[in-house]
This record gives sequence, structure tokens and C-alpha cells, in this order.
Amino acid sequence: MRAIKPLMNDARSALVLFSGGQDSTTCLAWALERFAHVETVAFDYRQRHRIELDQRLVVLDQIRQAFPHWAERLGEDHFIDMGVLGQISDTSLTRDVAFAMEKDGLPNSFVPGRNLLFFTFAAAVAWRRNIRNLVGGMCETDFSGYPDCRDNTIKALQVTLNLGMDRAFVLHTPLMWLDKAETWGLANELGGPPLVDLILEHTHTCYDSVRGTRSNWGYGCGECPACALRKRGFIAWREGRPSL
Ligand code: ZN
Repeated sequence: MRAIKPLMNDARSALVLFSGGQDSTTCLAWALERFAHVETVAFDYRQRHRIELDQRLVVLDQIRQAFPHWAERLGEDHFIDMGVLGQISDTSLTRDVAFAMEKDGLPNSFVPGRNLLFFTFAAAVAWRRNIRNLVGGMCETDFSGYPDCRDNTIKALQVTLNLGMDRAFVLHTPLMWLDKAETWGLANELGGPPLVDLILEHTHTCYDSVRGTRSNWGYGCGECPACALRKRGFIAWREGRPSL
């Protein structure tokens, strides 16, 4: 009879895909509420909005200062150089071209394979770190049109990773069915006004590396699709209505 292998990865621990934006910061807070030990991972794929990679360290530091009970659970931060993805991707996130919709209905900000690679590399880190849970901010409720943000894509990837790495990873996407207003609401539930303020002041969402002046919804150009979504969601949340 074939022996059943013990599941080696620790169910109390999580690795969060943490870019330093509004969504991944909310996911990090979600994980810190649920898991005893939480680590973070970021990817440098030569994104135009590289400022997010600096801003994420500020966000981590601010979380440690403002939420001591979360700071106790917050562990190592991993940084992975995925420059090769920027080299092979001809998109508006990795080239200096304007944002536009393509003929096939996808925005030209879609980086093919990005989230598939992120979760695969995150799983390789989690494998080494003995971590069971992987957390990402993918969402198919707000329109972005990215097929690798869809629930079925992530579920299929979970099966693939577990078959390919012989582990029992659980891929969590707490924002999957929330609109942007509800994501602000979730941040408020998790950390109250201090977390909402921290996200407004320190996270970077804008596709351009523009911090600019502070608006009531945070920093950014205010015009790109990412800013437009964040701004519309924040205003809707404050007015107590959906952002769709
Ligand atoms: Zn922007």
C-alpha cells in the first residue's frame, strides 16, 4: 500500500503577494488577522510604476508601527527579480506607451503570464519556507479584463501547483468578489480608520510613477485606469454605495 506523505507545509502560515498597492495591503491585513505567521513577496518585472517597490517598504514599516499585534506576526520579506518578464513583455506596464484597449478586448496593460508566474514563484518560496497559504489580490469583480485574475484561473493554478510541487497549497484571493468600494470597506473592518489612512497615505496604485499631490483617495495621476478605479471606489465607499 502506498504510504500517505505528511503535508509538510504549515497551515498557520501565509505568504502574501505584496506589491505595496491598495489591494495587496488590504490582503496583507486580511492575512495578518488570520494567520500566526505571515511573510511577504514582491516581484520586480521592470514595471513602469517601480515607485510601488519603494513604497511597499514604507507600508510594511508603517504597519509594524501602527499595529503591534500584527507586527508580531509579520515575518520575512522576499524580493524576486523577474526582469526577464519585462524583457519579453510588450505592454503599457513595461514599455513607455499610452494605455489603450486592444482589438481583442484586453487592455494593453495586460502582462501575459504575470499572475501565473507570480503565484508559481511564490509557491516555490513557500515550499522552501514551509508555508501552506498563498494570498493574492486578484479580483474579477471590478473591470480590468485580465484573464489571469479570474477565479477559475486561480483555482486551476492551485491544482497545478499542488500536483507539480506535491504540496497542499491553498491560494486565497480575498478580494475576488469585492468591488473597489467593498475593498475599502474590508480595510476599514480589518484595521479601522488607521488602516484606511495608512493605505491612503502610503500605498501606490497609479500605473505611472506619479505620487503628485494628495487627494482624498490618496496619491496618483488621477487619470490612468488604476487611479480611476481607486478614486471611484473610495468615493462610492464614503457615500455608502457600490462602485460599479
Ligand atoms: Zn494614475
